[in-house]
Amino acid sequence: MKTNSLFEVFVNSILGKRYYTTFVAPKIETNRKSWIKNKKENYFMLSFDIDEQKDIKNLPWLLDLLNKYKIKAIFAIIGKHVEQHPEIYQQIINNGHELINHTYSHPDNPEFNPNKHFHTLPNEEKFLEIEKCHRVVKKILNYEMTGFRVPHFGYQFTEEIYPLLKKLNYSYSSSTVAIRTKTAGFPYKHDNIWEFPITCCQDHPFCIFDTSHAFRAKIVSHTSKEYIKSFEQLLKSNKNSFINIYQDPQDLKKFNYEKMLILLKKYKLNTVTYQQLTRLLK
Ligand SMILES: [Zn+2]
Ligand SMILES: [Zn+2]
Repeated sequence: MKTNSLFEVFVNSILGKRYYTTFVAPKIETNRKSWIKNKKENYFMLSFDIDEQKDIKNLPWLLDLLNKYKIKAIFAIIGKHVEQHPEIYQQIINNGHELINHTYSHPDNPEFNPNKHFHTLPNEEKFLEIEKCHRVVKKILNYEMTGFRVPHFGYQFTEEIYPLLKKLNYSYSSSTVAIRTKTAGFPYKHDNIWEFPITCCQDHPFCIFDTSHAFRAKIVSHTSKEYIKSFEQLLKSNKNSFINIYQDPQDLKKFNYEKMLILLKKYKLNTVTYQQLTRLLK
């Protein structure tokens, strides 16, 4: 994820946890109260974006691991990859996970669609990207997706997606960064579409808690140990809350990923897919 402003870079690299504790945590606390008041439980969602061949390579290993811990996850997928590797995507469905639409060619994917950015495409082209991915997945995998994630949510996010998703009868999206939402990261509705914001890192508040900021970013980073420790902290502090984590499969062998799944079981969070959550929120 790209962090845009100098202020955000300053917060992430210098203030870190102090900023989180002083400014972010109180907002989460206020919003959590109304979330609990509406009798919402402590939901946890684990999602993965399959953006590159490197991600696809780690899928068989990841699927085995999720099976071992009986965890159902969400995979944001690119239509072109489904055309290339239908078997592994069929396996994801067979294992009971959820697929969400991540466009047909993921503008600015270096392999398929370099130098284009989703948010600057004309609306017709945006719709084609989403609609074509939907069509390919329906045709090849006989699977009807009902949710979406914008490529490079964060800086390529635009509210223009919601009317386009409505046209396809989609009911949810997970395309926003928790700290930039009015609900401090709790689900909200836009144009009658649920938006499930992605949880931020407590140590680097303007970064989502993904593996790319932890292991591939230039300005901020985590050691493997810190990343797991920070994850446990998140699970502890957000009890009776809403946690929506996103990770890149290509990074998962860079640290003891299994430990994260063990922690998930330890804290007994209610792990759901977006599809399940949408039904529960009705
Ligand atoms: Zn992506
Ligand atoms: Zn971090």
